[in-house]
Amino acid sequence: MTMPFIDLGAQQARIRAKLDTAIAKVLDEGSYIMGPEVKLFEEQLSAFCGAKHSLACANGTDALSLALMALGIKAGDAVLVPSFTFAATAEVVPFINATPVFVDVRPDTFNMDVESLKRGIAEAKRLGLTPKAVIPVDLFGLAADFDAIEPIARENGLAIIDDAAQGFGAAYHGRTVGAIGDITTTSFFPAKPLGCYGDGGAIFTNDDRLAALIDSYRIHGKGSHKYDNERIGMNSRLDTLQAAVLIEKLAIFPDEIEERQKVAQRYSAGLADRYGVPFIPDGLVSTWAQYTIKTKSEAERAQVQEKAKQAGIPTAIYYPIPLHAQTAFREFPRDPQGLPVSDDLAKRVISLPMHPYLGAQVQDRVMEAVR
Ligand SMILES: *Cc1c(COP(=O)(O)O)cnc(C)c1O
Repeated sequence: MTMPFIDLGAQQARIRAKLDTAIAKVLDEGSYIMGPEVKLFEEQLSAFCGAKHSLACANGTDALSLALMALGIKAGDAVLVPSFTFAATAEVVPFINATPVFVDVRPDTFNMDVESLKRGIAEAKRLGLTPKAVIPVDLFGLAADFDAIEPIARENGLAIIDDAAQGFGAAYHGRTVGAIGDITTTSFFPAKPLGCYGDGGAIFTNDDRLAALIDSYRIHGKGSHKYDNERIGMNSRLDTLQAAVLIEKLAIFPDEIEERQKVAQRYSAGLADRYGVPFIPDGLVSTWAQYTIKTKSEAERAQVQEKAKQAGIPTAIYYPIPLHAQTAFREFPRDPQGLPVSDDLAKRVISLPMHPYLGAQVQDRVMEAVR
C-alpha cells in the first residue's frame, strides 16, 4: 500500500465543485491572458500578506529574475545566496550576468547564517564585486532570520529579496512572509504550500517604483504605449485559468496552514526522541512546505529511506548536494571559511510525507516505519 508524498487529490476533492465552476467561467469569458481573475487574485494576495503590490508571473524562478532586473543588478554585482536551497535561488543571478556568493545556513533552522553572510559580503568586496542584494530563503516554509539580516543589509546597502517559494504565508514576529524585505517572490508550482495546476509565481513589494518596473519587465518591458517598449523585458504572465484555480486555493490556505501545524506537531511529538526534528523559533509559524528530520549519519539516513520504501512510504531528500558543490555553481565565490553546515545537512536530512490532509492513522504508519 503506497501513499502520496503530497496529497493534492484530497485538497482537490474538497474544492472540486468550486474549481469546476471557476474554470468554466474562464472558458465562458475567453480571456485567457491577464483576464479579470488575474487582477482579482493579485488583490487577494495583497490583502492576505499585507504587501502593497502583488504581481503575478509565470513561475517562481521568473519572479526572482524579475526582482533582480527591477533592482538593476548587473555584471560586476554580487548577490548573496544560501547554498542549502533549490537551484533557482542562485541560478537567476548568473542568468543576468551578476555573481552569486554562497553563504552557509544555521544548523537549527536551515536558514541563512548571518555570520557567514558577513563573511560573504567581505569576500565579494575582496574580489572586486559590488554586493547589491541578499536572497534569504524561507526554507521548508520557515521564515529566514530577518531581524538579524535586515541591519546587515542596511549597513551594506543591500536590497533584500525574500525567496518565499516555500514560505509564502508564514508568520514572522507578527509579520506575514510576502511583506518582508524590499521584494518577496513566490512560486505556485503544484507541490508548494500554495500551488496551482501548472506553473505560476508572484512578486510582492511595497515600493511603487519597483512595482512599476516589475510590471513592465514581466510584459516585454512595456511602456505606456503598447508598441513602444521602454526596456528589454520578458514574457512572464500567470494564466487566467491558473489565477482562477488559485483564488479557490487561497480561500482555504489559512485553514490548511493551521492543519499543517497539527501534522507537524504530531510528527515532532512522535519522532523527537529518535531524530533531529525541525526547530521553530518563538514567534514564527512555518507553512511546512516540507517536514524534514535529521538522522545521526548518512548511513542511518539510507536505512530510514530503505525502511520507508519497504513500507510503501515515500520520502525525499531536499537537498542531496548543496549548490556550491553542484557542477554549474562550483566556480562561484563563497564564504572563505567554507560551508560546513550545508555540507553536513545534505548528508543527513530526509523529508517525510507532509500535507494538510495527512490523517493521524496514516501518520502513525509513517512514524512506525521511520522509527
Ligand atoms: C520551487 C522553488 C523555486 C522556483 O519556483 P518555480 O515556480 O519552480 O520556478 C525557487 N526557490 C525555491 C526555494 C523553491 O523551492
